[in-house]
Amino acid sequence: LKSKSFVSESTKVEINDLTKMFGSTTAVQNASLTIESGEFMTLLGPSGCGKTTILSMILGILQPTSGDIIFNGQPINQIDMSRRDIGMVFQNYALFPHMTVAQNIAFGLDMRKINKAEKKKRVNEAIDMVQLTDLGNRFIKDLSGGQQQRVALARAIVIRPRVLLLDEPLSNLDAKLRKEMRTQLKKLHNELGITTIYVTHDQEEALSLSTKVTVMSNGVIQQIGTPKEIFGRPRNYFVANFIGYGNFLEGTLVDVQDEHFIFETDKDLVRLAVKQDEKHQVGDEVILTIKPEMVEIITDAKIGMNSLQGNITVSDYIGSATGYEVETAGGRTFKINVLGLNPYALGEEVKLYLDPEKLLIIDKE
Ligand code: ATP
Repeated sequence: LKSKSFVSESTKVEINDLTKMFGSTTAVQNASLTIESGEFMTLLGPSGCGKTTILSMILGILQPTSGDIIFNGQPINQIDMSRRDIGMVFQNYALFPHMTVAQNIAFGLDMRKINKAEKKKRVNEAIDMVQLTDLGNRFIKDLSGGQQQRVALARAIVIRPRVLLLDEPLSNLDAKLRKEMRTQLKKLHNELGITTIYVTHDQEEALSLSTKVTVMSNGVIQQIGTPKEIFGRPRNYFVANFIGYGNFLEGTLVDVQDEHFIFETDKDLVRLAVKQDEKHQVGDEVILTIKPEMVEIITDAKIGMNSLQGNITVSDYIGSATGYEVETAGGRTFKINVLGLNPYALGEEVKLYLDPEKLLIIDKE
């Protein structure tokens, strides 16, 4: 298969107790994670949480304060960046605007003193891979943003990297193009199977592209898991909040009935049943959370366990769904997403149902 020639060697990346200080600022704190060979790992987190700092240490433009980066069992901290065989796409692409597409893509091969015939062959292959077939002689300054993005990607893969690093590569594109490029990137990864580390603060990108996701906050890893694990079972308040669980209730697990915990809030004594899990027990102080799209609005049923009465205070039509805020008699605000065109009126009285099977217990921290 032609595309297999784009991978030099399948590489497992281990990051071992990695710390980076800038003066008194800790940008990355004791981070440990493993990226299996061929995996697509996304580092997800808000601006300033240390994602780029981790990439820079893997690339070799920054030295760790402590800890190791290991490729297939071999520490690379002391290996010069030019010999790490890493393909990198920067957020701003860092292309040479007055050179052609082909010249930009060939740049890494020139540095490696690859002979002319081989260079030409590889550049043409890379141009085809990213679907820029007829644009080899165009100048970068005459390309659209999406085309430039693909040149940057071709330049990264043409060197047959062991590892591909992508730092928010889609953030300069408009929403439609971003989705298209996301699909292309996914296809390319499936074809090439290069171990990839992708940085973004966009949870949708993380969900759609990755085989694994690492969520970070303030230089600290909060959770590592498959997209399904992270989005379905966030471990703590930070992760849940960051990936869009909008509703949080603080309280205590006070009892067990029929394989459900009975949860009670501390102040207004809202009582809710929630599916029992192995990690918690009666007496634990916890947070209950539920996604806005999981909260149900019911109009006919009588008020019973896990239902609350309230009024619509905010209504926000967002295309395929409507976002509401409902304020309960106890003064709590719930965020709710309902599919379809705005079925409820502002001020309308509604009943909310919080399904015990859809509520999630997370730890207070
Ligand atoms: P973004 O999404 O905005 O790129 P990030 O998650 O990639 O953010 P980093 O760029 O890794 O975050 O920065 C992590 C922390 O380290 C921030 O507090 C940042 O201000 C700090 N930092 C990064 N580089 C330096 C530097 N060269 N000198 C001092 N502080 C730095």
